[in-house]
Amino acid sequence: MFDNLSDKLDKAFHILKGHGKITEVNVADTLKEVRRALLDADVNFKIAKDFTTRVKEKAIGADVLTTLQPSQLMVKIVKDELTELMGGDAVGVNLSGNPSVILMSGLQGSGKTTFSGKLANFLTTKKNKKVLLVACDIYRPAAINQLHVVGEQIGVEVYSEPENKNAVEIAQNAIKHAKANGFNVVIVDTAGRLAIDEEMMTEIANVHKAIQPQETLFVVDAMTGQDAVNTAKAFNDRLDFDGVILTKLDGDTRGGAAITIKSVVNKPIKFIGTGEKMEAIDVFYPDRMADRILGMGDVVSLVERAQEQYDEEEARKLQKKIAKNEFGFDDFLSQIQQVKKMGNMKDLVGMIPGASKALKDVEIEDDAFKHIEAIIFSMTPSERKSPALIDPKRKARIAKGSGTSIQQINQLLKQFDQMSKMMKMMQGSGGKNLMRMMGG
Ligand code: GDP
Repeated sequence: MFDNLSDKLDKAFHILKGHGKITEVNVADTLKEVRRALLDADVNFKIAKDFTTRVKEKAIGADVLTTLQPSQLMVKIVKDELTELMGGDAVGVNLSGNPSVILMSGLQGSGKTTFSGKLANFLTTKKNKKVLLVACDIYRPAAINQLHVVGEQIGVEVYSEPENKNAVEIAQNAIKHAKANGFNVVIVDTAGRLAIDEEMMTEIANVHKAIQPQETLFVVDAMTGQDAVNTAKAFNDRLDFDGVILTKLDGDTRGGAAITIKSVVNKPIKFIGTGEKMEAIDVFYPDRMADRILGMGDVVSLVERAQEQYDEEEARKLQKKIAKNEFGFDDFLSQIQQVKKMGNMKDLVGMIPGASKALKDVEIEDDAFKHIEAIIFSMTPSERKSPALIDPKRKARIAKGSGTSIQQINQLLKQFDQMSKMMKMMQGSGGKNLMRMMGG
């Protein structure tokens, strides 16, 4: 995410390294590079220019008052300005209705249906809501089916009337159904077109008027850069939505839409989509996004994701197993599955400060655990329980079964052994052994 921009900004700050203070001259060179970085990221000219003007004023004013190095100071100012540009504080969705109605709008292919599913899943699993999804696309039967598939996948009911060609009626009936059946949230997925056209805008405006949603969200594909910003503006002029959903940020290396949309449309980005899976949704926090853009990672989100996956009972069971020396490959496998639930590897690496940069040229597989899982799946239950059983003959069998090499098996066994020792050490006397080992 945003690798190019991070790189270029880093180079811009580098100009100031070794300088004792910020001067008109060295700051001008840096700002020229910052502006160029923004333009390359598909930020429009005026926004990029205003941005660097504000940064310059702050940098020159702040220089005398701070003990920071000029380059550090510049990073801080750029971070603050980026955060501000992207909206300052995070803004949630309004769930005050009974039921709360959320109307989804956006062009076809923007990720509207996928996001409707993600949001339904998010509200069900994280906010304890009973959610109804509504298929209001009266033109494409495939779109109705798609929503049903999504609903089934996440265990959320989907309301549709495939024979009805009146979107307003379907939406109204769905809300009646929701009221009668105790749903807290209704998410209405509407029809999109390939480009903005009058008929679509009129239809969605009519649905909007009839159902008076608490929240109207506009979904847009981040990879389309300036086009995303322009489409958002056109929709907003007509529909006056409440918030933007930026999808496909996982494929967006430039970042222009994320940076500019708020200042052009004056509506906050509320969520981002970072993958095709139902879990690939994040609340949009401008300050965390600024950290990511500057290659500073996003430790807060990483820790939050880890906490979400943390299951106290599981952890206690695991602790007992470790104490009794019973930690085996099955437990290892379930640990891997927990980590995988946190998101894809590329995304997670991007949240570790400095890691994106350090691993820039390393190809990170989306499913980095594929080989490890294959190896474990090829082990017998008794081998998983007692890895010591795995002799050379068994290794050859496992390698064949998992399509890996003996070296890979040896490597995994070694890692597993080291990990078991480490866990044992951390267990014993509340981590004192580990401290001792580390010379503490
Ligand atoms: P709609 O026509 O607006 O309803 O769009 P869809 O929900 O059908 O999405 C269009 C395509 O984009 C599908 O192939 C989705 O899997 C994909 N997609 C949606 N959101 C994301 C995302 O956040 N990241 C990635 N990589 N793909 C996405």
